[in-house]
Amino acid sequence: MNLLDYLPGVPDFPKPGILFRDISPLLANPTAFKEAILQLESLAKQFDYSHILGIESRGFIFGAALAHQAHKGLALARKPNKLPLASHRESYGLEYGSDSLEIQQSTLPQGARVLIVDDVLATGGTIIAACQLLKKAGFQVAGALTFLEIAGLNGGEILNQKGIANKSVLV
Ligand code: 5GP
Repeated sequence: MNLLDYLPGVPDFPKPGILFRDISPLLANPTAFKEAILQLESLAKQFDYSHILGIESRGFIFGAALAHQAHKGLALARKPNKLPLASHRESYGLEYGSDSLEIQQSTLPQGARVLIVDDVLATGGTIIAACQLLKKAGFQVAGALTFLEIAGLNGGEILNQKGIANKSVLV
């Protein structure tokens, strides 16, 4: 089974010139989705982590499924003003705009070693912001795991240069 077949490219979404990989066909196929999570779990074993941080919103899907499969705790990095308790915020640039993420201080225990999980790694900006958030809140970053790294944008290399260990199932 070639999992890339379940991630068709959509040209010019959400802006002209961007080829957006749609994860909907993968999620809609139970065999492909299960295989995707098993492959993520296999890569996750290379990291020493106690908790997963899922990034809103598609990182919630992969992060939650992996947390369940690997029996790890899950915390959420959310878009601004969604979290009810005291939070840290970090703003960042995207391939197609800018955004902010927040995490709640009290969700993770002191000493948590956190694996950041998202669906896609493009330029790396989102994961770098998540990493800075975790550090601001006093947690250790175990690394970052994505399902797909978009080839040609060098996200994995950019993260390596920042000292963020990272792996993707597909490149
Ligand atoms: P980066 O910050 O690495 O440039 O972009 C990664 C973030 O943008 C992720 O949160 C990811 O969900 C989203 N993203 C960027 N490009 C794509 C894409 O082609 N497909 C999907 N599904 N998400 C993307």
